[in-house]
Amino acid sequence: MNKIIVLIGAPGAGKGTQARLLQERRGIPQISTGDMFREMKTLDTPLAREVQEIMASGKLISDDITFKIVQDRTSRDDCKNGYILDGYPRTAVQAEQLEALAAEQTKVIQAIEVDVPREELMRRLTGRRSCPSCGEIYNVYSKPPKVEGRCDLHPDAELVHRADDNEESVSTRLATYDEQTAPLIEYYEKSGRLNKIDGRGELEEIYAALDKLI
Ligand code: AMP
Repeated sequence: MNKIIVLIGAPGAGKGTQARLLQERRGIPQISTGDMFREMKTLDTPLAREVQEIMASGKLISDDITFKIVQDRTSRDDCKNGYILDGYPRTAVQAEQLEALAAEQTKVIQAIEVDVPREELMRRLTGRRSCPSCGEIYNVYSKPPKVEGRCDLHPDAELVHRADDNEESVSTRLATYDEQTAPLIEYYEKSGRLNKIDGRGELEEIYAALDKLI
């Protein structure tokens, strides 16, 4: 495989969960710009503070900063046979920057849309919890941990509710998705590089659909 797999879907569509499974089971590195920005939280630099503020509001970080972290991360050795982008590109400019990067890395892009109806997204986002230790994602409604509030794999770790999973940021994130990211679906479709899967239902069913496409 020498592909860049681009998972496109609204916040809460399950891209992160599926990308993590693909990484675990097929060894394809999952590159999540959201996770990388969240990791910057531990840094106390002007850039890290700016990133935190923008993220908490639900708006997007600048295209150039985002491109730089993607470029750096994907130039590492583990990405040489391909990788999954989770949450990137999110704007037309980012999609163009990715074309250049793919050409430079001699990789082709396969975009996969994970489609989930809007009503369900809100419930998923507000119910989402994650382990600060390993990043495992749970949902109080659809995928609760064995012990309430605790990671199954790290019982000492108390699950956290992301700062931007509150209703106000969620609305901003959904609006940003509609305005800036959803048009990319057509962009990849027009160039014959789009597949679509249904993001509703059982995790394993969704995984099986994705696994078959890749
Ligand atoms: P996510 O975990 O993918 O929902 O991303 C969380 C937040 O990180 C977003 O709401 C943005 O503030 C920022 N972010 C993640 N990916 C990008 C991107 N490709 N471009 C700009 N900002 C991003």
